Amino acid sequence: MKYIVGTLLLISLSTAHAAGPRVSLYHLTGGVYVAEDSEYAKVNCVVYVGPESVTVVGAMWTPEAAGALHAEIRKLTGKPVVEVINTDYNPEYAGGNAYWKSIGAKIISTKLTYDLLKKEWVNVGDFIRKYYPDYPRVPLVLPTETYPGDFTLQDGCVRAFYLGPSHTPDDIFVYFPEEKVLYAGSILKEHLGNMAFADVAEYRKTLGKLKQLNLDIRTIISGHWSAVHGPDLIDRYLKMLEEY
Ligand SMILES: [Zn+2]
Repeated sequence: MKYIVGTLLLISLSTAHAAGPRVSLYHLTGGVYVAEDSEYAKVNCVVYVGPESVTVVGAMWTPEAAGALHAEIRKLTGKPVVEVINTDYNPEYAGGNAYWKSIGAKIISTKLTYDLLKKEWVNVGDFIRKYYPDYPRVPLVLPTETYPGDFTLQDGCVRAFYLGPSHTPDDIFVYFPEEKVLYAGSILKEHLGNMAFADVAEYRKTLGKLKQLNLDIRTIISGHWSAVHGPDLIDRYLKMLEEY
């Protein structure tokens, strides 16, 4: 399974990479916009446009991709990007940090993600290059603001929370209560994806906790493959974990 997924991703790389970052940004609902970047493994991030400023959820693979996303954001609003969340320590969510920092945005994560970025950045980059040899050695830029656990931004309209280990030890969810949208990053996807850093038993427990929260979810945004899903993605992913 892992091999098949890796091969498919490699094929998509060979056609996608020459073009550089190809970022598209589109409106989903309320303040929530979805950003898709098809360079390397396709990644989907979120742009939240608040009353006065913009929050980006997921920094993108590289500073170049982050810059391309910023150019798209500027087409839809003059509000400044003031903060960017690293939802886990993997490069698709933190590789663009250097760009965001250069425009004066805060880089925000949990303490756990900060510590893993510091300890594992080089290793995780090497791991990615096994599948995407052209993925550059992006210098580590650490978050500028960390929280011991859950945190909220944009006056409670952006709620980040951690429920336990899943795809990596540190992945967080980001919930948008007004829009009833849950951003699940690499935690929930239409395929099982990379399990190299996952503890399957803990993963299932974490998704059990997510269900127990009974969040009012209309849409789940996934970090890889197709972006927009219904709330049934949680049970679909749990079934894939059971069969793994
Ligand atoms: Zn991922």
